[in-house]
Amino acid sequence: MPIIKVSIIYMNTLLVMKWIRINQIIALLLSCTCLTLEAKLTSIIKKAALSGGYVLLKSSPDAIVEFANRQYQVDSKGYLAIGFNRELSGKYEISITSASGLVEIKEIQITAQQYNIQRVEALPSSRVITPKKVAIINRIQAESAKVKQARASSGDFDYWRVDEFMWPAKGRISGVYGSQRYYNGIAASPHWGVDIAAPEGSPVYAPAGGKIVLAENDLYYSGGTIILDHGADVSSSFLHLSDINVTVGDIVKKGELIGLVGSTGRSNGPHLDWRMNIHGVRIDAKLWVKELEL
Ligand SMILES: [Zn+2]
Repeated sequence: MPIIKVSIIYMNTLLVMKWIRINQIIALLLSCTCLTLEAKLTSIIKKAALSGGYVLLKSSPDAIVEFANRQYQVDSKGYLAIGFNRELSGKYEISITSASGLVEIKEIQITAQQYNIQRVEALPSSRVITPKKVAIINRIQAESAKVKQARASSGDFDYWRVDEFMWPAKGRISGVYGSQRYYNGIAASPHWGVDIAAPEGSPVYAPAGGKIVLAENDLYYSGGTIILDHGADVSSSFLHLSDINVTVGDIVKKGELIGLVGSTGRSNGPHLDWRMNIHGVRIDAKLWVKELEL
């Protein structure tokens, strides 16, 4: 009898252990399926993986994204654009944390862009550092505060990812993103836009839809200037315009006439300087246009 009892207990224990193991396997399988489903929630929809480029991704709404020590919030539909600054290159991780707390990692390899660097030596020092009157310094500061204010809040629009960007003007590319001059070894500010040389008065079109958040006729450096908010903190700027056809608050469609090419502000000859900004990062605007149609 005691032998039978012992063997029944032994068999029961075996059954219980089997049961636990089956449960564990099921739980493991379920968690794997969940992870796979979760992993599919974030996808990269577009990217230009080089310095001055960007990545557009789609995740679940409420996802928190971390990239290069900065945190980003996706828009109401789960979309996000991240800009790469002029100096950013190498291997980076994009970490996406969903509302349920699951963390997903996407790796991105950013290629360094080669910039055109010009060195101008043996200049008289008066040409390197131009002293400015206090009134002008004050004006520049007030204007840059205005620009900052215009960019401070962005609309929850889809234009930035739904519209396929077009060139805002037609002409020869006369200046590129990232180029920089050194005067007697002192670096001048890099060139942030793509310059399109065109005759004075040529039309400037909205490259994609958006809301006009700044329309100024005469800024010290950039002259006639428009800032167009494409939504989700993606914006375009248009500099040196001779005329402006829009006012702050206007919603414009892709291809709509917004202004005319000019040479206002600090400019040597009529051209459009088109710049793009993503969450405060200046990126290379030409990378948003599918191909050159000039
Ligand atoms: Zn320019």
